[in-house]
Amino acid sequence: MGDVVDYNDSVPRCGFCGKSERQVHKLVTGQGAAICDECIAQCVDLIKDDNDKDVKINALNLPKPSEIYAYLDQYVVGQPQAKRTLSVAVYNHYKRVNMEMGEGGRATGAGMGKAAASSGTARKSGAVEDTKAASGKRPDERGTDPLADVQVAKSNILLLGPTGVGKTYLAQTLARVMNVPFVIVDATTLTEAGYIGDDVESVLQRLLQAADGDVDRAQHGIVYIDEIDKIARKSGESASLTRDVSGEGVQQALLKILEGTIASVPLEGEGTRKHRDQNTIKMDTRDILFICGGAFVGLDAIVRKRLGAQESGFTATLREHDESKADLLRQVDADDLGDFGLLPEFIGRLPVVSVLDELTEQDLRDILVRPANALVKQYCKLFAVDGVRLSFTDEAIAAIAAKAIREGTGARGLRSIIEKTLEETMFQLPEMNDVERVIVDASAVSGEGVPKMVVSSASSGRSPRRSKIHAFG
Ligand code: ADP
Repeated sequence: MGDVVDYNDSVPRCGFCGKSERQVHKLVTGQGAAICDECIAQCVDLIKDDNDKDVKINALNLPKPSEIYAYLDQYVVGQPQAKRTLSVAVYNHYKRVNMEMGEGGRATGAGMGKAAASSGTARKSGAVEDTKAASGKRPDERGTDPLADVQVAKSNILLLGPTGVGKTYLAQTLARVMNVPFVIVDATTLTEAGYIGDDVESVLQRLLQAADGDVDRAQHGIVYIDEIDKIARKSGESASLTRDVSGEGVQQALLKILEGTIASVPLEGEGTRKHRDQNTIKMDTRDILFICGGAFVGLDAIVRKRLGAQESGFTATLREHDESKADLLRQVDADDLGDFGLLPEFIGRLPVVSVLDELTEQDLRDILVRPANALVKQYCKLFAVDGVRLSFTDEAIAAIAAKAIREGTGARGLRSIIEKTLEETMFQLPEMNDVERVIVDASAVSGEGVPKMVVSSASSGRSPRRSKIHAFG
């Protein structure tokens, strides 16, 4: 027998199964490699299985209220009651979402779980498969479940508290721990549909953009609506003659999306390019958590008036003197919010109410140095990039906090105080090669002095350390 010449050697083959181009429907070739359609299909199945497992993990991974609290605690200083209320409310919200996913009614798949959990990997099929994990009941067990037909209603959240105490920051941190898309909307920019300004659908549009066009993820996001008190009915209880398009009108328009509706969201902008062929997209708002926040100036007086009317003489006078604004706000009820100018239906959509306290000087000091991404740490990092060790004396930290209290800006003012203190230094530093350390003391904060620059030890020796120093990195 002569030599066998295998002409097939020159025929392109799938690198996985070895089949030739002629044996398969499609062979995709690349540089030095090829894969057939059958192997691609098998790979897709494999990846899908993994994604489905992720969904299971994500559904199970719903952090417990104590874990949410602990995460918030790493970032948000003080506000223990608000953190507690929010941890429970957010846990319940996503538990309901998980239950619905399990019941398969409206299977959607946002990746939820701890901040570390992978995102955007959930798929519909996985969510449906995960019935037992999500609801704790197998479909066949549900027949005997007396609670099977009970629908858990959604609970949006209302945050009351002065400016700069962490309302927005809490909502933002919550979105991070739940690993869901998040947007901040200013209620004062919203108007009723058809009027000049942003209509409420633009809120959903922005959420979709934050989810990079992934409708499933957007439908499980968190929307923070700031300055909600500014859309109170203009004249309290009395109806106005002219149409109130930016107050009552916006409340009316928000009602539906707060409760849960299928909204038509106009498509434009970056994150929506995935749906290039459509002008609008349908979004279900039932699983979107709305957190509304506002300072509600004057609401404490409404509460005090109501409580005063219910009490007489001595107790009423005591209340007048002893109770802080936050204490009064904690006793707020739906009637008070109604008197403030919110519509009863609107109040009904925000059943979880939490009050944030005014921050004390000690809170502000803690905010400067304690949280995982504390402001002082952020500036230390900025300086460290240039090889400079930035430090703040204890007195400087106290001076910054005291200044913010005097200016009445809460934590919001801290950054600008530091920025102002370090402005000149940050201007000069990039051109100075021999600076090793920068020390900020109280005089630098008050403006009587400047931050001290310490040049490298080779040329100047060490700086004396008189007080406790806050330096990171
Ligand atoms: P509000 O929404 O109550 O007006 P913000 O949440 O916008 O205030 O606060 C402004 C900034 O101040 C936040 O981005 C955050 O850096 C800081 N901040 C406010 N409150 C706190 C807090 N309790 N803990 C840590 N940082 C805070």
